[in-house]
Parts: sequence; structure tokens; C-alpha cells
Amino acid sequence: MILLNPGPVNLSQRVRNALLGDDLCHREPEFSQLQSGIRQDLLNAYGLDNKTWAAILLTGSGTSAMEAMISSLVPDNGKLLVIENGVYGERLSRIADIHGLKHERMAHTWGEEIRYAELENILTEQKSISHLAVVHHETTTGRLNDIQQIAGICARHEVKVLVDAVSSFGAEEIDFDAWQLAAVAATANKCLHAVPGTSFVVTRRDQLNLSGTRPRTLYLNLASYCNNQDQGGTPFTQSVQCYYALSEALKEFAEQGGWQQRRARYRALAAQVRYGFAALGITPLMTEQASSCVLNAYHLPEGMDYQTLHDKLKEQGFVIYAGQGGLSKTLFRISTMGEINADDMQRLLDAMQQITR
Ligand SMILES: *Cc1c(COP(=O)(O)O)cnc(C)c1O
Repeated sequence: MILLNPGPVNLSQRVRNALLGDDLCHREPEFSQLQSGIRQDLLNAYGLDNKTWAAILLTGSGTSAMEAMISSLVPDNGKLLVIENGVYGERLSRIADIHGLKHERMAHTWGEEIRYAELENILTEQKSISHLAVVHHETTTGRLNDIQQIAGICARHEVKVLVDAVSSFGAEEIDFDAWQLAAVAATANKCLHAVPGTSFVVTRRDQLNLSGTRPRTLYLNLASYCNNQDQGGTPFTQSVQCYYALSEALKEFAEQGGWQQRRARYRALAAQVRYGFAALGITPLMTEQASSCVLNAYHLPEGMDYQTLHDKLKEQGFVIYAGQGGLSKTLFRISTMGEINADDMQRLLDAMQQITR
């Protein structure tokens, strides 16, 4: 089956085989080595120095990394501004709400471009805002938010930037140092092509010590994970087999040329689908410029509901993805992450032609 949903993704044979590694206790040196190697490889993915930055590994899906980042890095005397232009931005607000953080929302309609001038005004007027949370690639619509621009505005107001890069880490540009990011949350099973079960936060080490703020969670406390992991340990049992897969996936990622090559590969597949669909009269929601390289949203073909399209494509070996919420009746989404290639996309186009004829 070819998975065109935005994670979990099709695995390479090499990553799948890694899952069959030896049984391993998480209190043994072999585990420490495996974990330290992954942490270093995650920093290497974006050329980060491990004195300034730490990659902190969690066992959970991408949302666990979002929740760990928000709940661990905003102090009681701070205030968070959350930018929303889709499901995942709204999820960041819910996390802030559940943990009782002082926060405000800057709401947009789903898919809308972020209103940068208004953001600048908000930060000028509200001096109490200390942190900003934003989604990089808003998977709801495929829009790639401009983190460089947002981070530039935040830097002028000394606001720290927390990014949900769950569906962009490994395939889009993230200039951690130049953009002065505070932390980024991501996962193993999207652009890094490993399995679901491990997520992570890459944070500036100096963000971890919130003096005067009591931990808000036991299980998702980043400072405690980081202390343990720096010493080769882990506070709780980690998903060992997911570590095996992630370790192998990161080796493959580096050998294939890192995020730059992955972006080039996704872009080529996405363009093949976009132009192929255009020839069948199926139109995208957004321009190529506004979209990520990872996922594009399309209007459903004339006269066909999502379920029918989904089921017919599944019969031919392809899993597509519905729009979320109110978009489920009008859109479908195609992600080009994972171990898939141009031949697969050609077969998708052939199947689509047959179905829509
Ligand atoms: C997939 C995704 C998540 C996390 O979803 P999980 O189901 O918890 O893995 C978070 N943010 C974005 C932008 C995503 O695409």
C-alpha cells in the first residue's frame, strides 16, 4: 500500500529491518549509545552545536513533543501568543489552555497567510508577551508559514519562538541559529521516514531552566529528560525498537543528502502530482509558493465525495487523506513523504484518470 497521508509513511526496507534489532534493556550501555547517537544525528540534521542545543527524545506521537515544548518552556511569569491558521495551531492553544498558561490567540481562518503587520502591532502593544508558538508547515491545508519573517518580528521584541515543525523537520529549511529559535518540536515518522512512537524537541539548552516555575507535568518535563539523557539515561522506558528504526532512518537521511535533498525529492514528486492532476481538472487549494514541499491539498473532483474517491484509490493501492473539520467535504490531501517514487506517482495519476473519467 502506498501511503499518501501525512505520516506514518512508507518505510524503506532498511528501516523496517532495523526494527528487528536485538532485545535491549534501557538501563544498559548499548541503549545509552543508541540514544546518544540519535540525539547527535538530530542536531547534525540542521548543523547544530550540542553545547547550545539539545535534542530531547520522548516516547509518544508528535503531539507529545508539542505538549512537552509548550508546558516545559514557558515560565509562570511569561505569556504565550499562539498563532493559529489551522488545526495544529489551534492544538497549541488547547495545550496552553489545559496547562493553565497565560496565553493569547492570534486567530486566522484555516489556510490564511499570517498577518505579519498585525503581529508586529500586537507585540509592540503587549509588552507582557514573552513567547510565541507557531506551526511551521500547517498540515491542515499544506501552507508553509514563514518562520523567518515571524522570528524576525519576534527578535525585535525579544519574544522567544517555539515552533511545531512536526511535518517539516527533515525536509524544509529551519535556520535555528540565524532565526534565533528557542525550540522546535518534531517526530520520527514524518519527513525523517522512521516509525511512529518517538518524538523529540530540539531546544536551546538555556531555555530549560525555568527558575521559580514548578514542573507542570511529570511525564513530559523536558528538563528532566534532558538531564537524564545527557548522562546516557532516561527517566522512563523508551520505545527501544522505535529508536532502532530512527537511528537507521537518520543514517539513511544523511547519506541521501539531508533536508536539502529530501526537499528536492518531495518537490519533484509534488510537482508531478500537481501537474498531473491539473491535466485531469483537479485543482490545488494553494499556489506552489504558499505550499510546503511535503503536502498539497486539492479540491475534490467534480461530483465525487471524499469517501468514494478514497475507497476507489484504496482498491488500487493508495491511501489518500481527508480534509480536517469543515474541509472534509471539499478537499483531499496528498503527502509525498516516505519511501515512494516517481513510478508510484505515475500509477496514482493513472488510477485517478481512470476513476474520474
Ligand atoms: C502530524 C502533526 C502533528 C502531530 O500529530 P500526532 O498525531 O500526534 O503525531 C503535530 N503538528 C503537525 C503540524 C502535524 O502535521
